[in-house]
Amino acid sequence: MRSSENALEVDQLTRVFDVSSPWLNRMIERKPKRYLRAVQDVTFTVQKGRCLALVGESGCGKSTVARLVTGLYDPTEGAIVFAPARKGLRIGRPMEAQMIFQDPHASLNPRWRVGDIVAEPIREFGLRDTAEEVDVRVADLLKIVGLSPDDSRRYPHEFSGGQRQRISIARALASEPEFLVCDEPTSALDVSVQAQILNLMRSLQDELGLTYLFISHNLAVVRHMADRIAVMYLGRIVEEADTEALFGDPQHPYTQLLLQTIPDVAAPNRDRELMGGEPPSPLDPPKGCAFHPRCPLAADICSREAPPSRDRHGGGVVACHMAPST
Ligand code: SF4
Repeated sequence: MRSSENALEVDQLTRVFDVSSPWLNRMIERKPKRYLRAVQDVTFTVQKGRCLALVGESGCGKSTVARLVTGLYDPTEGAIVFAPARKGLRIGRPMEAQMIFQDPHASLNPRWRVGDIVAEPIREFGLRDTAEEVDVRVADLLKIVGLSPDDSRRYPHEFSGGQRQRISIARALASEPEFLVCDEPTSALDVSVQAQILNLMRSLQDELGLTYLFISHNLAVVRHMADRIAVMYLGRIVEEADTEALFGDPQHPYTQLLLQTIPDVAAPNRDRELMGGEPPSPLDPPKGCAFHPRCPLAADICSREAPPSRDRHGGGVVACHMAPST
């Protein structure tokens, strides 16, 4: 049963990184400090049991949002508020988000057996009392993700990429989270394996009542997973709407360009070039609307004034001077 309560509320989130050269170099070269606004005034909510996807090109800030939500980075400004937890030993405390990373090879300790990798969060949170109970839970988790309990004795390098991502999912589920942040979880996998992992994640969401924040550059993947989509460009959300509304009636020119890049059915491995060239550097974003140098609809106002985020015709929000009025 899906609920309309919010699991996560993110309000006016901003993250600035100091990317200056070392002090001595700056003094010699007489250069000022440099700051990168990776995320700027990002606001969204994720309803319980739903999946919100953040999409955009590399460098748009979506992975920084993922790391802010999971506490790997602190915000420079803004708020991240989780609903109270209802499961496990954390009842009454705020929900905690577990993260599934893009590259399971890098996120699994190669020297540990799979059983220990999956058991670590169970032991850390004290979720089972005895070693036997931990073993039973690890076996259950491996079965839930489509692996065998016997796999607990093996090492990560003995598995394929898709199987390693299943191990990552089992480990993420081990701490009994209600919220998962999935950062490009299938982009390192073959297309056929991608579909299996996405199907697994969808069925786990339904069975366990999980809420997802799903990060991807691939709108085809996102359409399969998300109830709602937020499109990011140079650190800001430029359009957000329910998935079918966004696909049926994209109103921001950048969303329209992204939709044109969805891979061909005939050549699914080949990502199409995004029309309009490369995105500008987030270190030196264009004035006005940051998308104006690439935008086919750009007018004079676009290089002068940043478009405010406003209600989108048909529901959601959009930030574009030329978007249809509500
Ligand atoms: Fe294009 Fe102007 Fe809209 Fe920006 S505000 S997306 S430049 S039309």
